[in-house]
Amino acid sequence: MSVACEHKKTIIIARRGGVDYVECLDCKQIFEAEDLEPVAVDDDD
Ligand SMILES: [Zn+2]
Repeated sequence: MSVACEHKKTIIIARRGGVDYVECLDCKQIFEAEDLEPVAVDDDD
């Protein structure tokens, strides 16, 4: 079983509609900076 990542190391990768998107350097997940919930990256916008 993998250890849950706490996403302590993140970088801002994008900003859209006033929302910052961050990437965790440990697990490579993309999150909204506000709530650190995983989001599906979709560039169709
Ligand atoms: Zn992480």
